[in-house]
Amino acid sequence: MYNNIGGKVKALAIVEMIVGTLGSLITAIVLWANDAVLAGFLVLIGGFLVSWIGSWITYAIGDTNETVNGIRSMLQTQEATPDAPQQPVPQAKAASAYAPAPKKPAPYRPAPIPASERERILSQGGWECPCGSVNHSYISTCVCGRNKREVLAAKQANEAK
Ligand SMILES: [Zn+2]
Repeated sequence: MYNNIGGKVKALAIVEMIVGTLGSLITAIVLWANDAVLAGFLVLIGGFLVSWIGSWITYAIGDTNETVNGIRSMLQTQEATPDAPQQPVPQAKAASAYAPAPKKPAPYRPAPIPASERERILSQGGWECPCGSVNHSYISTCVCGRNKREVLAAKQANEAK
């Protein structure tokens, strides 16, 4: 009902002008019919001026209302646009600046091997790395990066002492 008030007020201004003009014209005709010629002209001219100027004011009010509504909806559209430059920083993002830095990933730890499995691998020629991993004989490099040959050489050197 109150949508597009500006447009309705502008339409009202046109109605106001037409009714005012017709009213003053009819009044003038009535006056002329009664031999009041001067009064008829005064009413006609005065009625014209009053209804015209009055309708301009009414029209201006409606036009201003429309302009204000247009500016308002323009601003609302701008605010709603996600990448508008005026958009404030989202709360969550702003808060994260004060949050502690994410923890570094824990260093790799090989999954513990059951004792029976460990015995089986070692009995089949496997080798145990200083990092705790038990590797099959065919594995030349442990998950920690140590080389099988180096590990076995160090082990032999240790046993020789
Ligand atoms: Zn290792």
